[in-house]
Amino acid sequence: MIKIENLKKSFGNNEVLKGISTEIKEKEVIAVIGPSGSGKSTFLRCINRLEEPTSGDITVGDTLITEKNVMKVRENLGMVFQHFHLFPHKTVLENLIYAPMNVKGISKQEATEIADELLRKVGLYEKRDEYPNRLSGGQKQRVAIARALAMNPTVMLFDEPTSALDPEMVKEVLAVMKSLAESGMTMIIVTHEMGFAREVADRILFLDGGYLVEDATPDEFFSSPKSARAKDFLDKVL
Ligand code: ADP
Ligand code: MG
Repeated sequence: MIKIENLKKSFGNNEVLKGISTEIKEKEVIAVIGPSGSGKSTFLRCINRLEEPTSGDITVGDTLITEKNVMKVRENLGMVFQHFHLFPHKTVLENLIYAPMNVKGISKQEATEIADELLRKVGLYEKRDEYPNRLSGGQKQRVAIARALAMNPTVMLFDEPTSALDPEMVKEVLAVMKSLAESGMTMIIVTHEMGFAREVADRILFLDGGYLVEDATPDEFFSSPKSARAKDFLDKVL
């Protein structure tokens, strides 16, 4: 579904990604783990071209991403950010129907039907006419997930979706993500939720210093990490 070949990204003299290669299969759930500053966000942002890679190739489905087709490819990649990025002056429903109507040209009626179904799925149908500032952080993030799903993406990318939430709201967001994973969605999730990664992910990518240091199953990674850097990281966070 996604093939990444020797991906490099520098900001000025700072080489943040130093040649990352991996493949992500359809329906796979990937957790990206690593210390702060290791390049996790940059890795995700290169996949959907919020950052332009310095070199390397990324293929989504059968399509090699180029500057010309990036807008089209991005429609297939749903993105969820740490800080939600909802439109503050639109209601929940308006947040969900905006891109389907304006990017995909779907009718308002059809977009609304899709949105209502997604809002039921994330447990927020009753909030459809509220504005984001009336919602809790956990509710905002569930709206953000539903909004990304409204574009019917083939892959969902999450960048620390629970890091900005109060502890009591983390669970409800992880529950939505878990049920999405169980429904067969292909997902790449940058997270510090080690329990979730271990339980839900099919594969762990451990980044450190811009290198993909480990590419392993959760059992391998958490029980017997191969690298000293992963061992050291796990000692600190577990
Ligand atoms: P992580 O998500 O793992 O914490 P990031 O990918 O956000 O790491 O950042 C990796 C490195 O890239 C950091 O040193 C950060 O300062 C740098 N960086 C990230 N984005 C930018 C940017 N837009 N401009 C300059 N440097 C950046
Ligand atoms: Mg980050």
